[in-house]
Amino acid sequence: MLTIYNTLTRKKEEFKPLHPGVVNMYVCGPTVYNYIHIGNARSAIAFDTVRRYLEFKGYKVNYVSNFTDVDDKMIKEANAEGITVPQLADKFIKAFMEDTTAINIEPATMHPRATENIPEIIAFVQKLIDNGYAYESDGDVYYRARKFAHYGQLSGQSIDDLEVGASEHVSEDEIGKKEDPMDFALWKAAKPGEINWESPWGKGRPGWHIECSVMSTKYLGDTLDIHAGGQDLEFPHHENEIAQSEAATGKPFVRYWMHNGFVTIGKDNEKMSKSLHNFITVHDIIKTVDPQVLRFFMATTQYRRPIQYSDANLTDAKNNLNHIQTAYDNLTYREKDAAAGNDEAVDKQLADFTDRFITAMDDDINVQNGIAVVYELVKAANTYAQRPTVKQGALQAYKDKLAQLISIFGIKLVAQDNEIDDDKIKALIEERNEARRNKDFARSDQIRDELKKQGIILEDTPQGTRYKKE
Ligand SMILES: [Zn+2]
Repeated sequence: MLTIYNTLTRKKEEFKPLHPGVVNMYVCGPTVYNYIHIGNARSAIAFDTVRRYLEFKGYKVNYVSNFTDVDDKMIKEANAEGITVPQLADKFIKAFMEDTTAINIEPATMHPRATENIPEIIAFVQKLIDNGYAYESDGDVYYRARKFAHYGQLSGQSIDDLEVGASEHVSEDEIGKKEDPMDFALWKAAKPGEINWESPWGKGRPGWHIECSVMSTKYLGDTLDIHAGGQDLEFPHHENEIAQSEAATGKPFVRYWMHNGFVTIGKDNEKMSKSLHNFITVHDIIKTVDPQVLRFFMATTQYRRPIQYSDANLTDAKNNLNHIQTAYDNLTYREKDAAAGNDEAVDKQLADFTDRFITAMDDDINVQNGIAVVYELVKAANTYAQRPTVKQGALQAYKDKLAQLISIFGIKLVAQDNEIDDDKIKALIEERNEARRNKDFARSDQIRDELKKQGIILEDTPQGTRYKKE
């Protein structure tokens, strides 16, 4: 039985989606004004792993993750770069797709952008005004937080505690516009020169919180099965989303709230964030770190726990991943002398590993215990591959099981071709000769380098090209 820790109730609950067999899941995406840092990547990896596990369990997962493509930071950065807000958004959405593809995050079923949903956002805000939950004030529209009875429930705070904090955080341009410091903006009037859209309240743009309420319900229905994001989004972002959505639809907004832990860095385990200026972007890391290693490192810590980012921890992840790949390669290597047929004992053993893996992961996606089962499977596979006689079907069954379980962590195992045979070398030498005749020296050098990497040294002699193995 799959259990998930629900932030709203603060306990592990049995996971039951609204419609059997289907999971409607929304994950808050990035504001696209920069490359994603590894704190963003952590969230994307954590919930991609959850998604993969749900799919492994047989669910059809509708996974929606938004791009916040207009807000104060976007406007500021676009001005700094001398480009428009949509140009800035296009640039970093493209970068997001490249970086997340590198760390093997499945594309969302849908990646809606706030600016592509302006009519829906306006209609949603209007609905909140019509039913008394929101009011227009000097071109802005605000939500009356105190009117929503459960405000503060998700983050476990009373409205009076929140009031104290809120009074200190009213921004300058909001002074005098709000009925109550607790109120938050749904729509903001445009300042001169700012990107804007026509609305019943004048030219302006949506607030941040409203876009998620609108896009999640538009694409997934009034009640989502899972809404996820980083811990730092619990308040105010997710609190506000609940208030907006439930006031508009009159239905429960989310069945299970999931929040991932932080990434810490340095000897003091400081939280990594843009405001602390200690963040590292995925774009930079993967220039020196194998993206698969980064993925494996982050996917093997349970989503609610903090991750300590360090070279030592990355090295551990690299070694563990190598260990798994080596087992896979050992199995591949034995295929040459394997006898035909299956091995019932192996099939039974693998069914047992699968059961234990599911038990581990069903406990709030406990990937640490899940990967521990995979390591035991690796050990069993290595033992089998060392037997004097092996069966083809058993080798394949081990390989399939390893590939299947490790794919939930976002790792693709493929057979590595470590051996280069003489025919292949000769074919490459022939191709190189052809390239030289055509004066395509770039290709000719490339082939020589490729072979050198595999320990094959070429010598050009008057009688032709000879080769030797290092
Ligand atoms: Zn959101």
